[in-house]
Amino acid sequence: MGHYIANLRDIEFCLFDLLDRDSILGTSIYKDIDRATAMGMLEEIKRLAEKDLADSFIDGDRMGVDFNPATGDAKLPPSFIKSYRAYVDNGWGLIDAPVEVGGTLIPPSLRWAIAEMVLGSNPSVHIYASGFSFAHVAYALGNEKQKQLAKIMVEKDWGATMMLTEPEAGSDVGAGRSKAVEQPDGTWHITGTKRFITSGDSDLNENLIHFVLARPEGAGPGTKGLSLYLIPKFMFDFESGALGKRNGVYVTKVENKMGLNVSATC
Ligand SMILES: Cc1cc2nc3c(=O)[nH]c(=O)nc-3n(C[C@H](O)[C@H](O)[C@H](O)COP(=O)(O)OP(=O)(O)OC[C@H]3O[C@@H](n4cnc5c(N)ncnc54)[C@H](O)[C@@H]3O)c2cc1C
Repeated sequence: MGHYIANLRDIEFCLFDLLDRDSILGTSIYKDIDRATAMGMLEEIKRLAEKDLADSFIDGDRMGVDFNPATGDAKLPPSFIKSYRAYVDNGWGLIDAPVEVGGTLIPPSLRWAIAEMVLGSNPSVHIYASGFSFAHVAYALGNEKQKQLAKIMVEKDWGATMMLTEPEAGSDVGAGRSKAVEQPDGTWHITGTKRFITSGDSDLNENLIHFVLARPEGAGPGTKGLSLYLIPKFMFDFESGALGKRNGVYVTKVENKMGLNVSATC
């Protein structure tokens, strides 16, 4: 028996007695997912959370991240990688992905009921699987190329980070000094230092897309002057997703935390 027991009875009560999900499931855009299907998903994630995901919770916290400052690479305990693979390889990441590029169409309430069990069992699994959610940002707000990147992120299970915080720019995110300079070929060079970046590096995914706030040259102060840039750890081919050369973004330090140690805060 692992450390986690999911309270499925309570979740079912919240979804169906409190939130009346019966009124939307099995109909309209959710016609393919009725109450029985939803409960089947919840029962399956309960089983996975209590065993496969919970199995590495203690290892993850005790062993944490093995960081190599010479290369900037972070390695995670094999048992945690096994838990992550059990989650992603069984298709659960797809509940957070854009439907247009292969995501599973379920109501947010059901998605969060599933997430509650993953977060209760082994929160870092949920956190590292954020590439699927970040693909939403690229898909919903991006141009055609960025939509294609979203598709590759989902297909290949690429990780993601949000790079907002900098030394002297935490709560006051608009004070960020990272700079973006447009190149003659339309690409951008980004310089700056970020800190406290969740999942900044790991050996879970073959590639990582950093969603980075930086100020384009000539833009005004504060949050309004910031733009969002997508920086890959490895350059890649937009058609096949094949990896190219290593990009110039590196982790220099992993924070020592009191808990959630397997989640690399970089
Ligand atoms: C585990 C962890 C993971 C994180 N992951 C990410 C991530 O993935 N990406 C990312 O970009 N950032 C991440 N962060 C950074 C997080 O967003 C910042 O820590 C947060 O924005 C606060 O900034 P700060 O730490 O610089 O604190 P500060 O902004 O310096 O705040 C310090 C203290 O001052 C208080 N304070 C600040 N401003 C005011 C004000 N105007 N009035 C009154 N009190 C104020 C705050 O409440 C706080 O108590 C992470 C942080 C942690 C701890």
